[in-house]
This record gives sequence, C-alpha cells and structure tokens, in this order.
Amino acid sequence: MSVIKVMSENLANKIAAGEVIEKCASIVKELVENSIDAKSSNIKVNLLDGGIKEVCVIDDGIGMDSSDAILAFQRHATSKIYKDDDLFFINTLGFRGEALPSIASVSEVFLETCKDNVGTLIHIKGGSIIEQGFSNERKGTKITVTNLFYNTPARLKYLKSEQTELANITSFLEKLALAKPNISFSLTNNNNVIFKTSGSNNLLKTIHEIFGLNISKKMLEIKKINDDFAINGYVCKPEILKSNRNSLITFINGRVVRNNDINRAINDAYYTYKPDGKYPIVVLNIEVDPTLVDVNIHPTKQDVKISKMDSLYDLIYNTIKDVLYNNLLIPDAIKDKEDTYYNYENKKDNINVVNNSEIIKQTTFDFQDLETPVKNEEFKSLILYPVGLCLGTYIVCENDEGIYLLDQHAAQERVNYENYLNNLKKEEINIIDMLIPITIEFKASEYQDFCNHQEVFNNMGFKWENFGINTIKILSHPTWLKTGYEEESIRKIIDLIINLNGDFDVIKFRENVAITLACKMAIKANEHISMLEIEGLLKNLVKCDNPYNCPHGRPTIIKFSIYDLEKMFKRAMN
Ligand code: ZN
Ligand code: ZN
Repeated sequence: MSVIKVMSENLANKIAAGEVIEKCASIVKELVENSIDAKSSNIKVNLLDGGIKEVCVIDDGIGMDSSDAILAFQRHATSKIYKDDDLFFINTLGFRGEALPSIASVSEVFLETCKDNVGTLIHIKGGSIIEQGFSNERKGTKITVTNLFYNTPARLKYLKSEQTELANITSFLEKLALAKPNISFSLTNNNNVIFKTSGSNNLLKTIHEIFGLNISKKMLEIKKINDDFAINGYVCKPEILKSNRNSLITFINGRVVRNNDINRAINDAYYTYKPDGKYPIVVLNIEVDPTLVDVNIHPTKQDVKISKMDSLYDLIYNTIKDVLYNNLLIPDAIKDKEDTYYNYENKKDNINVVNNSEIIKQTTFDFQDLETPVKNEEFKSLILYPVGLCLGTYIVCENDEGIYLLDQHAAQERVNYENYLNNLKKEEINIIDMLIPITIEFKASEYQDFCNHQEVFNNMGFKWENFGINTIKILSHPTWLKTGYEEESIRKIIDLIINLNGDFDVIKFRENVAITLACKMAIKANEHISMLEIEGLLKNLVKCDNPYNCPHGRPTIIKFSIYDLEKMFKRAMN
C-alpha cells in the first residue's frame, strides 16, 4: 500500500487557503520537513545563490516508490494526515499535502528517490511531468528545485537579495538542527559550508556546532518537569548576551515555535542578571500533551497558543532562576580568541566569505573542557583578598585562582538593592519619628497625584499630615531609610509615587523603589573608599542572591584567571 494517502476534500480545503511559497526559505522548510518525516539521519541542503538559483535537498530517509513519488506532486496528497481531527494532534512536522505540488507549479523540480532498491526519477516543470523513469539506486531522496517563479515573474521580484534569502534559510536550519540533534544537517551555499551538525544526538554538542565552543562552554543545563510540562535544554551564563531575541530558541514537541509568553518567562528569569534590551541564548525543549497546544495551522507561522500557560511560565521561570542561582557566574575578563569562530550576529555580512569547514575540524569538541556546575555556596565561600582601589572606581582583589576587579558602584548598588527589597517586602514595618519633620511642597497637579496614591505611601510606613496648600509634613518614616539621607530618600519615593499610572503593581513598585534608592545611595565612581569599607562591601556582596550584577544587569565583578594572565605574559605558551 502507498505510504502517502489522499486527504479528504474537506480537510484539504481547510488547509489549502494559506499555502504560499513566498521565499526560498519556505521551499527549504517544506523539503527538509519532508526529509525529517522520512526518518532521515543525514540531511544536506545545498544552495546556489542563496537558493534563488537552486535549492537541493538530499536525505537518506525511507524514500518513495514510483507511485508515491507521482502522488506526492498531486494536491492534497500527504502521508501524515488521515482525518480532520488529526490536524490538532500533529506530531510530525510536515502536515500539508500541497507543499510539493505548490513548489512544482512555479519552478522546475528534479526528484530522485529510491525505495526497496528501486530508484525513481521525476522531472517536473510548471507542474507538469516532463520526464519520468528509473534512477540509480541510492538510499533516500534528492530533490532539486531550480528556475523558481520562472512562470510567475511578478512573484520573482518578491525574492529578497541572495544574502537575505541565505540568512533566512540559515536561521531556520540552525533552529531545526537544534530541535533535532539526532539528525546531521549541513548547509552549503555555492559550495561553501555555512554550517554542519554531526547528528550526535547531544544537544550541547549541537549548540557547540552552531554557536561555537566559547558559547557552548558558557551554557548551563536545565531539566525539570511539573504536572503538565517537561522542559530541558540549555541557557547561557549572563556574560554572553545578544542584542536581539533571535537566540531565544524554543521547541514544543520538536517543533520550532515562537511564543511571547515563553520568551517573557525566560526574560523574567534573567531579571537583573542582564540589562534590559539584551537577551540570553536559550535552547529550550518543551514536551507537552499535544491537546494543550493550539498549533496555528498557517504553514508559514510558528506561533502557537498554549493552555495552562501559567504552569509553563512558572516551570520555565523557576528552573532558569535556580540554575543561575546555583552556578558561579563570574565572567572571564579575557575572551578566548576562538570567539571569531562563527559570528552569529554578523553572519549576514560574512556569509559569502566565511568557509567554516576547516574551522569546524580544528575546534574538536572535548567535553572535559566544560566547566562542571558549581553550587552558589562556592561563591558564598569565595575568599577574595582585597589589594586596593584603582582609578577610584575598581576594587582589586586576588585569590589563588586569579585577579578580580569589582566595580565599586555596581557592587554597592547590588548590596543596597537586595537590602531595600528585603525591607520593602517585610510584613512588619518599624517606624521612627523624624527629629525635625520635613515639609514637601508640590505643584498642584503633583499634589493631586500624590493624594490619589497616598495609600501606597502610608502602607510603606510613612506618617504625614497636610501642611498648608499643596504641602505635606512628614512625621515618621520606616527605619530602613539610610541614615543621613532620609530627606533625599523620601523625595525619591514620592517622585515614584507621583509618577504611578495604570494599575498599581506592588511588586513593580517595590522594584522601582529598591533600584532607585540603591543607585542613589551607592558610592559613586571616583570616590576613594578605605580598605575597611572595601572589606565591608565584599562581605555584604557575598551575601547577595545575585552577587554578579547590579540591579541594572551590569557586572559587578570580573576575573582574570592565572591561566589567562600567564597566557598574556607568554608564561604559558598554548
Ligand atoms: Zn547606579
Ligand atoms: Zn546599576
């Protein structure tokens, strides 16, 4: 019996509407997904001029017999869907019956495939079979698509430049390779290797093959389940951030998906471990009962809707937060040279000139190299001997592993921040009367804003009374305000209250207060502090939940390892 079955008319119509081949990446996507469904373990994508001239996909999958091969070019033939309901339980990647016929209708396609030692060859142009016969016997399927849009010149002009088409294809295949570490993918353009994965079925190794050794070395493994979801994958240490979301790569049941709530959970877990506007590198697999996922069946979209999102949010958020908390995250000051290996962000510019094939061979991957995760207790017991202060800004410390530089403002800011936040969260508020009550004069509009939100102020433990027109007198305040800076602190807090708008979110408000006061009350750069103050600061920093970053996500501490120093001074020669 043929593997490929014809779908019911009804279902076909449901799906047919959105089918568009709009760019070379859509062709690659359809062909490669078919290869995956054919249980291939090696998939090669060879492009000419970014796919504009030619897209060729070679796999070693189960192949087709000649009747399946012909059927594959008819509309709504698919081997994956049998009845309407199946659409919502799709576990295979390709699920539409019209990919091949659509492609074939606007291009020239050569198909060579082999099943049970019988090779089939089909040559189709503009949808009609020109040639059909036997081909050499080889395992799998080879499909070559040329002359794209030759018969629809209007659509030809929608193709982007070679570089853009290639960048789209590269980005798609990289994600797919990460989703399927058990499959070896290779991509070439005009015979230059763009990337290659080994199909080792080891996700970390695949991350290495795609992002390079220096990134894979900085990845932390995560793995956790709850009642509804299972997640696993890798997240990066905050020292290697990207300036866009492209490296937030998520899969649901093996499908590359895009979902803002998932991205938000990841981003929130890195809160204060990174600056706003920077994004981590994350490769996250989510396993879930398919009935909880609404896959948008439009073929060009990766968006999904997830039921029980709250449960998934908590799982992702807590798991990433834990792994960041439990690892030593002091960044190395010296970045390894091999960072030039494959510049993910600049690939658009370099894509034609970089030939990675040699480089891939050079940097053979050694798992012994990977740092074993260290519990945060290690940071807590980290002994740093202060040496002094440089440039009035950087605290220099040493221990038997190397030299550490701390940014005194950032470190102090972190200590203050956690301190303020803990106090703001306390149920019981200790208050103290002001020796000399201060008066605060408002503009009329500000006074209105303040009065509208006076509950917020009162709940923090402030006592006050009206004192003439648009003026208030502060009588007492919570004890955690920094001594000597009470008035400044109160004015800052009132500023934040006046600027409250929308729904009041107590967590956000506390964050704002803690961050604002932390920065204001921290020692500034170019302020020479004593050795005693340095020691006090170090002691307090070590106690922090996240000692590595200021509340704005900037690093507080970086390390020059002895090895790096010896390398720089040519004491170590490798
Ligand atoms: Zn600051
Ligand atoms: Zn800061």
